[in-house]
Amino acid sequence: MNAEKHRQEFTANVSHELKTPLTSISGYSELIENGMVNEQDTIRFGKEIHRSANRLLTLIDDILRLSELDATSESQQFEQVDLYELAQVCVEMLQVNAKKSRVTLKLSGQRRLVYGNKQMLDEVIYNLCDNAIRYNVEDGNVCVTVDEEEDTVFLSVRDTGIGIAPEHQERIFERFYRVDKARSREAGGSGLGLSIVHDAVLAHGGTIAVGRNKPRGSRFIVSFPRPTSEETGI
Ligand code: ADP
Repeated sequence: MNAEKHRQEFTANVSHELKTPLTSISGYSELIENGMVNEQDTIRFGKEIHRSANRLLTLIDDILRLSELDATSESQQFEQVDLYELAQVCVEMLQVNAKKSRVTLKLSGQRRLVYGNKQMLDEVIYNLCDNAIRYNVEDGNVCVTVDEEEDTVFLSVRDTGIGIAPEHQERIFERFYRVDKARSREAGGSGLGLSIVHDAVLAHGGTIAVGRNKPRGSRFIVSFPRPTSEETGI
């Protein structure tokens, strides 16, 4: 597909994604405005309006991130970053969400340096961990590992969740692609998280692979080239 066609398709998808929550906000608020709703339903409709508004905010945030990643990365500052330290902060931040979903979230590995942009790397880790929690099951686990292998520094995120069937695995990095639309919406997803991860990994000259975790769930492995001596300044 050429660039122009991609853009058209993206715009059509964005419009569609904006329409659903806006239709619900407009519909519910109109009912309230007309005084047609009893007190109990007002609370229920209020909740729906709130949820739809939050979905719009997430969607707009993600679209802005994608367009930033599309822009030339010259403005993005690259430096030496300890991937393990970033993962620590991320895991710490997501512990509350994990607890709410009754999922155990753990980090292992050790200090590993990559040459990259902190904010982008942060988003990579955050989105993968957030998904691993959201698409998990009660009493499930998420294991995050940062280590190195041969010439690469890698981050792996393994979960014991619902898993991704092989036929979906290669498509999940596409913008707005979701395996289960209803579950994604329920989980507050925009369908853009993994495409942001994908673009950010590529901007670092890295690769991302998805597969099955044993005995169940999914496993994402992100590999970055080890920093060169020029990049480390040694
Ligand atoms: P979303 O906002 O829908 O979560 P993403 O781009 O982050 O969008 O993910 C795309 C789709 O890939 C999700 O809708 C979900 O179906 C699937 N997915 C992502 N991560 C996982 C995971 N860890 N386990 C199972 N399915 C996943």
